Amino acid sequence: MAYQISDDCIACGVCAGNCPVSAISEGDGKYVIDADSCIDCGACAENCPVGAPAQA
Ligand code: SF4
Ligand code: SF4
Repeated sequence: MAYQISDDCIACGVCAGNCPVSAISEGDGKYVIDADSCIDCGACAENCPVGAPAQA
């Protein structure tokens, strides 16, 4: 299962820079993960200051 970003996201952009497959992009008020590209590495969850990304 791919990771998803919750509404807790403060749109800091840190996760996008850490994703090895560039699956994260800026959405409407928060960042979003492309489920088809995500390889479940967990880097976004480890680096997020508010713990917004989680496995769906
Ligand atoms: Fe990118 Fe890994 Fe997060 Fe998936 S789990 S969005 S591959 S950093
Ligand atoms: Fe949102 Fe966390 Fe990514 Fe920052 S690191 S854009 S708060 S999900």
